[in-house]
Amino acid sequence: MPTNLAAQLFDIDGLLLTKVESDYNTVTLHVEMERQKQPCPECGVLTDAVHDYRQQKIKEVSILGKETTLILRKRRYVCKSCCKRFPEKNDLLSRYARMTARLTNQICGKLENEYSLPDT
Ligand SMILES: [Zn+2]
Repeated sequence: MPTNLAAQLFDIDGLLLTKVESDYNTVTLHVEMERQKQPCPECGVLTDAVHDYRQQKIKEVSILGKETTLILRKRRYVCKSCCKRFPEKNDLLSRYARMTARLTNQICGKLENEYSLPDT
């Protein structure tokens, strides 16, 4: 699976799809932002030091009748200059509502291509 698939699907640069779990009833998409230097909101110094991670579950609409969940691994950075801890900039949550419809359409299109039923 190409790692930039999520960035394409969500139209968010730097969003990585790290894992897809799928069984009969459910699809789980694991996504996270690419790690990159962030300006400290306090002092402006660039840092890429990670403080910690939190997981956030986002309920999706169903894909092909499967219950679908996004698991977003949110990263917090720590400034090495002033020790300020701050969350990464993440467009996924703010743009999520707008993206949902498009994501669903694109994933459905891909799945239908991959699993297309023979004409009867
Ligand atoms: Zn700082």
